[in-house]
Amino acid sequence: MQLWLGLALVLAALAALIVWQACLLSRCRFWCHACGKLFRLPWTQLLLRRHVGEDWLLRCPHCGQKGWCKARKPMGKEG
Ligand SMILES: [Zn+2]
Repeated sequence: MQLWLGLALVLAALAALIVWQACLLSRCRFWCHACGKLFRLPWTQLLLRRHVGEDWLLRCPHCGQKGWCKARKPMGKEG
């Protein structure tokens, strides 16, 4: 049994999934509750962030407040 190979494959798949999710999220915009502005973040800053549903615990680049920001899916070909 190639147990280690299987484990490595599972870990690689998980890592790919996490990066893929971050890439998808980098296309979304986040809404800051504190200042009401929408912002985007590069996928590298979206790795391993805490989230509940569509709310993400992020720091707003506009006002610097850290809080739960709602993700908004990109619409059409905008941006
Ligand atoms: Zn803000």
